[in-house]
Amino acid sequence: MDRSRQQVTPAEILAFPHMTRQNAQLLETVLNNMAQGVLMFDSETRLIFCNRRYLEMYGMSAEVVKPGCLLRDLLAHRLERGTFVGDPDDYIARLREGMASGKPYSLTVSLDDGRAFSVVSKPLDGGGWIATHEDVTERQRSEERIAHMARHDALTDLPNRVMLRERLEHELKRVKRGECLAVLCLDLDQFKSVNDALGHPIGDELLKLVGERLRACTREPDTVARLGGDEFAIIMTQMQQPTDAAVLARRIRESIAKPYQIDGHQIVTDISIGISVAPMDALDAEELMRNADMALYGAKGDGRGTFRFFEPEMNTRMKARRELEMDLRNALAGRKFELYYQPLVDLRTNAITAFEALLRWNHPTRGVVSPADFIPIAEETGLIVPLGEWVLRTACAEAVNWPEHIKVAVNLSPAQLNNRNLLSTVTGILAETGMPARKLQLEITETVLLQNTFATLATLHELRKLGVQIALDDFGTGYSSLSYLRSFPFDKIKIDRSFIQDLSNGSEPAAIVNAVANLAKCLNMASTAEGVETEQQRDMLQAIGCTEMQGYLFSRARPAQELRQFFEDEAEQGIGAA
Ligand code: C2E
Ligand code: MG
Ligand code: MG
Repeated sequence: MDRSRQQVTPAEILAFPHMTRQNAQLLETVLNNMAQGVLMFDSETRLIFCNRRYLEMYGMSAEVVKPGCLLRDLLAHRLERGTFVGDPDDYIARLREGMASGKPYSLTVSLDDGRAFSVVSKPLDGGGWIATHEDVTERQRSEERIAHMARHDALTDLPNRVMLRERLEHELKRVKRGECLAVLCLDLDQFKSVNDALGHPIGDELLKLVGERLRACTREPDTVARLGGDEFAIIMTQMQQPTDAAVLARRIRESIAKPYQIDGHQIVTDISIGISVAPMDALDAEELMRNADMALYGAKGDGRGTFRFFEPEMNTRMKARRELEMDLRNALAGRKFELYYQPLVDLRTNAITAFEALLRWNHPTRGVVSPADFIPIAEETGLIVPLGEWVLRTACAEAVNWPEHIKVAVNLSPAQLNNRNLLSTVTGILAETGMPARKLQLEITETVLLQNTFATLATLHELRKLGVQIALDDFGTGYSSLSYLRSFPFDKIKIDRSFIQDLSNGSEPAAIVNAVANLAKCLNMASTAEGVETEQQRDMLQAIGCTEMQGYLFSRARPAQELRQFFEDEAEQGIGAA
């Protein structure tokens, strides 16, 4: 706002006594109708002029505030009315000092009723001054609102990342004087499934409640912030020892795990927590946050719903992972993967029924990297989706040329099954490669069924409707719940190789394999023993009544080229694989 336009210049007011009566009235009307309070004083701090707005702003009486009254009396009147805060003599001294400097003097007055006035006093030639009082309450409020928004999260009204960082830097200065503090990074477990299953409004409500519970778990000087999504962070201050953070972490987990009632839904969730402590782990805000984040990552790796302290080895491991992740991306772009195929053999006829496609990555410096090492990283980074699609396409394009009765088995990761496009990807690849659906088997593990069960089962049913077979891989390593076997009509159960390895070690493993094979039979499913390495194992499995085996005894996984040669030789010999 251009203030000078609304103000009367000192020269004009000083000329007041010499004005015509008409002009003087005109000027008075103008001054009394201004949005600001205007006052003029002489060099002896005596009031020369004051407009009506000023009296209204401070609730003052025109009886007291009239030309000739001293600033001292005027302030005393304001004190009486409760619109002056401080010591009037002090105020006058500062004002006079300001005026003596010859420059405008400004200050903001904050009244008890919440109003705020901006006061600018400008010195005049004769030693007096003119003061304008402007009500800036609204402006100040909106500035405060904007400042608040910039440093708080809109959903929970908790401090955001910016404010967390400021507070952390501030608190770290105190740590240097002998205290210790902890940064906790927190992440809700499976928040995405709440959002997916119940919708975003309920997800938002859950985040708000979690924010409230976190705040209730901490003390006044601590900071609880929301970093975005389902990520929160806490600065714990005034700690005696690092283990205090573990006490807080336990308290938080206990509180967060209590059920939530939202809109008629009961929601249960858990939280994973990573902790980094200053000054032990780091003294720098960024490093401390990074360490807590790494510890959180470690906590999630431990199976979620748990907390971990930062350890320096996490840093080394994380670096190695990041490098591996980069290499993986490059390998996918540069088509550096290859599929090997391992036969599955009918235990009664000894004939090959299928080959399982197994990923191989020949790294220029790392050598052959096991899928067991890189699949988990591909899963976490989402790379598994394009990689898995490549595997499916390559395996189908290869298997379409195999003898009619030989199927190909392809492993599917949980991330692929959670991807909405899986069904159309599979249909598209089958059409593109000319591969009949009945020749394809998809292998999934129980972890797939643990997550997002409803949508997953629907996808599995759709796939099965196409004619694709579904096998339950690595049975016995996960929860091995019978309810999984009941929840979906699998075509095959693959018994994990750990049970097969133990087969000759007493009766217990044999009893387990026997039970699973019988269960499979009753449910009309095939049973495949994985990792068969010895004749003894094979004989026992035959006796038990397993239907299929896979393992080094018959063959390791082989490159596609070797398979083509094998099929050619078989055809020449006219034996066929059946
Ligand atoms: P899996 O699906 O259970 O595959 C069987 C694993 O057991 C393969 O290891 C295979 O080489 C190994 N194996 C087979 N017979 C024997 C044996 O007699 N003795 C021993 N000790 N091991 C045997 P591999 O190829 O290292 O694959 C490991 C896992 O990586 C697979 O386990 C599967 O879960 C995953 N994987 C491999 N390829 C893919 C893929 O294309 N996509 C996805 N999502 N996962 C894959
Ligand atoms: Mg498999
Ligand atoms: Mg397996």
